[in-house]
Amino acid sequence: MSALRCRGIESQVQRDESFARLRRFLIDDVARYSPFYRRKFAALQVDLDAIASEADFAAHVPFTSKEELRSHFADFVLSPNYPGKPANPDVEEISTSYLARYKASAQAAAEIAGDIEPTDRAGDYVWREFLNDWQPILTTRTGGTTGNAAQSAYSLSDIHGPLRRAGLFHHNFSTWSPTQRYMSLLPAGEHLGFYGNFLVPLLNGQPLRPMFGGRVTSTENQVLVAHREKTQALFGTSSYLVAWLDTACKMLHDGRIDGLPHIEMVSASAEALSEGYESAIRRNLAELGAPGARVVQGMSSTELKSGGFRECDENTGLHVDPQHFFIEVIDPETRLPAAPGTPGVLVWSHIDWHGTVILRYWSGDLIEGGTKWDECTGCGLTVPRLFGPFRRLESDFIKVRGARVDLTELRAAIETLIARDTYQIEILAGADGRHRVNAYVQDHPGLDAAKLHDIVMGAVELRIDRLSLVDHGDMQTRLYGGGGWKPRWLINA
Ligand SMILES: [Zn+2]
Repeated sequence: MSALRCRGIESQVQRDESFARLRRFLIDDVARYSPFYRRKFAALQVDLDAIASEADFAAHVPFTSKEELRSHFADFVLSPNYPGKPANPDVEEISTSYLARYKASAQAAAEIAGDIEPTDRAGDYVWREFLNDWQPILTTRTGGTTGNAAQSAYSLSDIHGPLRRAGLFHHNFSTWSPTQRYMSLLPAGEHLGFYGNFLVPLLNGQPLRPMFGGRVTSTENQVLVAHREKTQALFGTSSYLVAWLDTACKMLHDGRIDGLPHIEMVSASAEALSEGYESAIRRNLAELGAPGARVVQGMSSTELKSGGFRECDENTGLHVDPQHFFIEVIDPETRLPAAPGTPGVLVWSHIDWHGTVILRYWSGDLIEGGTKWDECTGCGLTVPRLFGPFRRLESDFIKVRGARVDLTELRAAIETLIARDTYQIEILAGADGRHRVNAYVQDHPGLDAAKLHDIVMGAVELRIDRLSLVDHGDMQTRLYGGGGWKPRWLINA
């Protein structure tokens, strides 16, 4: 199918086309091959033929919740039956139009293979084309420690199709060139943060040094590589980027490098880019001789599967691919569409992905700056753009002793006194419903405990019950011992 136009198109025309693709995908693929949605549509007696417009879609197809996804991961994978192979009664057999396509592509693949492969006696090569389109070959997971980590499966056609296309949005940047040298600071693991930052540049021919995180190559050695190779673009989590650039500045002061003046852009994702982090990154870049480097935000999630929505330049909003995502911005109170430009929860549906497919996913991401649909003045693309700050509706706010605590405020307040990655706050709910707040701080000789109490009380009205000093090893275990890739600075149990 041809690409959905993103330039010189009216936003409403594009939205209608995006919806038409979603509707066709819903009827041709999801309603036939998704065990979860077949069951759900049958239970709710959803009449797909009645869905002709966006409003019908919203009226007939309910939101998909995190809980549904977590308890039925396997059933969200599109899994058509193949003629002559063991069949799953919950889904339909692959359509004849798909089969005709696989016959043609098997022929083309045989020509490329030449005489290497044995003669195809059993028709397995057509089956292989089918498997390339539907079989999950890669599964990503979040680094959760509670056993119900989110996960998503990708087919080969996903990786070559929508995931690779996400990379084209990464090229949509003023400093981009086809020789721009990327470095990924994301630690190796099963999470999308690693795979996205690894596969997307490689699938698009972008020079890349993946560093696999600080436990494979020390931060200092990563800085030396970036210095030697004149790295131009850095991709990392917000907190690790700050720590990484701090290390680079320290090495500059120690005379081990003479700066990193080639850096042109820094892309922060996976965690909110708070004002504190952003100004620390800018200060460091200026010191390292790259004061003009652009600092942009990106966002993705395991469930989303995308290589990420990212800004085309500073403050241009996260650009969404309307070919593979249909987004809605929903008022969290009324659960109806939020007025244009006003804050709301991001709800999205996959379009033309295989593997894991989700419709109307209630992401819990609060888009506080609203959404724009018009042409971006930065890059000229007409695509939906999401404006920060971005918050997690649930996990960015917790209830402690009946009061709502804003975790971004809490983190920012603590870090005015204590360096990131050297503390952990633990909030434990007792059997009696009362909360206990414990703070763990890594050796901090001059720590003014009373001041820490005051700062936390002043920012979020939270009383720390107990303060414990721990050593570096203990802190590392607390922050990363669960196998995660973001520091677990907050435990809320
Ligand atoms: Zn743009």
